[in-house]
Amino acid sequence: TDLAAIVESGTVDVPDFPKPGVVFKDLMPLFADGPAFRQVIDGIIAHHGEGSFDVVAGVEARGFVVAAAIAYATGTGVVPVRKAGKLPRKALSASYELEYGEAALEVHEDAFIAGQRVLVVDDVLATGGTAAAALELVERAGGTVAGFTVLMELAFLKGRERLSPRTVHALLTV
Ligand code: IMP
Repeated sequence: TDLAAIVESGTVDVPDFPKPGVVFKDLMPLFADGPAFRQVIDGIIAHHGEGSFDVVAGVEARGFVVAAAIAYATGTGVVPVRKAGKLPRKALSASYELEYGEAALEVHEDAFIAGQRVLVVDDVLATGGTAAAALELVERAGGTVAGFTVLMELAFLKGRERLSPRTVHALLTV
């Protein structure tokens, strides 16, 4: 589609980052391109439907950029899902596996009003570990997941299968 082509052309492949053998998808050029960024944000809102969510949760750090733009355009709010140890108040934590070791995401325990409909966003879906933790946290904190969108899905890492039966909306699948 149109939006897939926009995401594709705004992405730069970076070989051997963050380590040898990995090709990192850098979406910063997309964020830096005003018209492209606006089309992508508007496309996400149109997919879910304005009024279908009350707040947008963004996963640190690039998810914050996407979440803030969606929230501003729809008059909703932003809730940050942060890496462990960054939030100032009492937080819920969910750990997930990395290739070597573990990491954790956190959200303030009072981040959501009970039943609030939460659109969760991030830039890239890879193995799905990050997304699984983020979605679990939203629900543990009392939110209802209204949708999950990424700009790009790396299909060979099977994140979508890992998140099943949840639905993943990806603007571009590679
Ligand atoms: P996962 O937990 O393996 O699905 O990795 C997804 C998380 O790592 C997301 O928060 C992404 O921002 C980040 N990530 C993984 N691979 C890439 C990439 O190629 N480009 C940009 N971000 C990535």
